[in-house]
Amino acid sequence: MSVSERLHKILDTLPEGVKLVAVSKFHPAERLQEAYDAGQRIFGESRPQEMAAKYEQLPADIEWHMIGHLQTNKVKMIAPFVAMISSVDSERLIEEIERQAARNNRTIEILLEAHVADEQTKSGWSPDELKAYVASGALAAMPHIRVRGLMTIATNTDNEGIIRRDFQHIRDLFEELKSHFDSNFDTLSIGMSDDYPIALEYGSTMVRIGTAIFGAREY
Ligand SMILES: *Cc1c(COP(=O)(O)O)cnc(C)c1O
Repeated sequence: MSVSERLHKILDTLPEGVKLVAVSKFHPAERLQEAYDAGQRIFGESRPQEMAAKYEQLPADIEWHMIGHLQTNKVKMIAPFVAMISSVDSERLIEEIERQAARNNRTIEILLEAHVADEQTKSGWSPDELKAYVASGALAAMPHIRVRGLMTIATNTDNEGIIRRDFQHIRDLFEELKSHFDSNFDTLSIGMSDDYPIALEYGSTMVRIGTAIFGAREY
């Protein structure tokens, strides 16, 4: 199947209003262009250098989403053009995004990444740390950042019960934190190639899908 066929097969299964981030990390620009030609406009990348290089090569109306762990010293590389950073996992990173967005006269949208999975390797705030940070009101002092919601990666397992537990957990946290934000806080980014049909049951509004569109990545 072509990229276009796979893309449309997935789009056909997404409820109205659910956004698809085509996760294109490690794939060459030509593959992204195929998806673009099939109508896709949101692309997710995990490495700043790679995203910046693809931004230079591909059409200007692409919405670039940073989905991988971002070091604070790399924010400036993508701040001039990135639409959303969905892997925001520390206060220091937020402060640097605010600084770089201001320097570029832009507003950058972010998702707060929470850690609910079993693996310690996954990044993100613990739910308690995140609640404390949001309640501190620090985000109110960030005029160049728009907090759109939460992101998480579920435990990597064949045990569907554990995946459901993780999605329920992030959904509860999303509902709980909502009252601290305005109506822009409307995005729950959950679901990847293997688990997005389950994520949709838990209210996902943004799925991040790579392998099911572009095939296996070559690292
Ligand atoms: C790589 C990645 C994805 C896409 O994973 P697939 O299994 O290829 O769909 C989604 N989200 C994040 C944060 C990723 O790093």
